[in-house]
Amino acid sequence: MSTALITGASGGIGAVYADRLAARGHHLVLVARSTGKLDALAHDLRTRYGIQAETITADLSDPAQVRGVADRIRTGTPIDILINNAGTNTASGFADAADAELEGLIGLNMTAPTLLAHAAVAGMAARGAGAIVNIGSVVGLATELVPGIYGATKAYLLTFSQSLAHEFGPSGIYVQAVLPGATRTDIWRHSGHDVSRLDGLMEVGDLVDAALAGFDRQEPVALPSLPDDGQWHAFESARLAMRPNFANSRPASRYLIHS
Ligand code: NAP
Repeated sequence: MSTALITGASGGIGAVYADRLAARGHHLVLVARSTGKLDALAHDLRTRYGIQAETITADLSDPAQVRGVADRIRTGTPIDILINNAGTNTASGFADAADAELEGLIGLNMTAPTLLAHAAVAGMAARGAGAIVNIGSVVGLATELVPGIYGATKAYLLTFSQSLAHEFGPSGIYVQAVLPGATRTDIWRHSGHDVSRLDGLMEVGDLVDAALAGFDRQEPVALPSLPDDGQWHAFESARLAMRPNFANSRPASRYLIHS
């Protein structure tokens, strides 16, 4: 039996990951701010699936509390699967948000997953096995859909996942970026949206089951709401086709000033 650490496990997508991974027989470490919800979930999963479940109360927008979770990854029972799921959006627009609100969003959506992955890779590489799942968003591919920095934080999780996969795949670490479309969870209420006005809303169980189907196939990027994965592969091929052309000693001719 292996152990999975899930951030943002007290509700929404993270709680369903906890249920599904417990059903597969994984022990769990559940992380979020709401101690009561975590304890109730851990008790329920231990009872239903006979697994071990620890809980850690932590606000992952706070660097000191992120360090506490990173210490648990480095020193406790080995973590075989890290699900970097905790994330949110702010209700304020970019211009109106307080600096502290933006810093908190960057801390939760970007810094925490980065530092937790950093804590996890050394042990996983030494064991020659492990998985890191970063929950991004389709908005990371379509940042113009949502105002402010949410989309940019999610774009980071995609490129961070691709970079990790490239660097640590040969060490036996599987890295998956999951890019959900709109999914029925409380994130919409927290970010000031009326979920009943959304079209194409996926149920959270369907989203997590699809992401896990991609996990089982070791897909590097899961896009559960995209019907034609040929579109994703065409996008990636176009990106990779540019790569051999980036190293040049002279600027491209369109940038040369002709007097
Ligand atoms: P959710 O229902 O609001 O759940 C968010 C989870 O993160 C909760 O367990 C929450 O627990 C935890 N969390 C929030 N702030 C935290 C903090 N400062 N420190 C630690 N934990 C914190 O949202 P969700 O939809 O499941 O979101 C999960 C992930 O999916 C996020 O990264 C989100 O960006 C991504 N996503 C969601 C959608 C969607 O439509 N739902 C679409 C694309 C991507 P506590 O309040 O107990 O801390």
